[in-house]
Amino acid sequence: MSIVLFGPPGAGKGTQAKKMIVAGHMTHISTGDLFRAAMKNETPLGLEAKSYVDSGNLVPDSVTIGLVKEVIAANKEGHFIFDGFPRTSTQAEALEKLISDMNANPIKHALFLEVPTDVLARRLTGRRLCRDCGAVYHVDSKPPSVPGQCDLCQGEIYQRKDDSEEVISTRLDAYSKNTEPLKEYYQKKGLFVEIDGQGDPEDVFDRFKTYL
Ligand code: AMP
Repeated sequence: MSIVLFGPPGAGKGTQAKKMIVAGHMTHISTGDLFRAAMKNETPLGLEAKSYVDSGNLVPDSVTIGLVKEVIAANKEGHFIFDGFPRTSTQAEALEKLISDMNANPIKHALFLEVPTDVLARRLTGRRLCRDCGAVYHVDSKPPSVPGQCDLCQGEIYQRKDDSEEVISTRLDAYSKNTEPLKEYYQKKGLFVEIDGQGDPEDVFDRFKTYL
């Protein structure tokens, strides 16, 4: 089966997806990670996505859907966790069509991570990442042992440009306008499940395991 993992920015989608791929031998498709990698490598996709990602706006559907199509096509047998995709109803419809056209594993659950807005803002403004391995830190709840240096690979710790306060509000608006309506979309399909995303990531993961 494949799973859609969705929710507002800062809900913990990436963290939970990483735990699920290990536990369930699944293939992780994070459009945000794919855009950031393309931007880092300055590929044509990265150059196209940069202004949208840096300003907190959604990358156009045609570009995003084309990217996901390539990733599914490269691994049709995969049991996918879609993390941060779909984010619009056009993407949700396109994903269903891609899966059916390519005979890939169908979506059996659309798991929504619920976190209140004030908690999201605190998580996002304090979030820091390792530039090399992508490990996630937080200035208050999970600082690295040596300031500025990743505990796992000694890489440089940095703040995502779109985790600044101004850009966060654009991202939250884009979420309310485009992505929140997907709750109803997946409710109608009988796939929607809400998981409480507050608290320790291990506790949140226990809630996922209990459900799945
Ligand atoms: P994320 O890492 O999921 O927070 O995504 C970071 C940024 O990448 C978003 O703010 C968007 O600019 C872009 N992005 C990621 N996924 C999508 C998507 N499914 N549709 C459009 N833009 C996306």
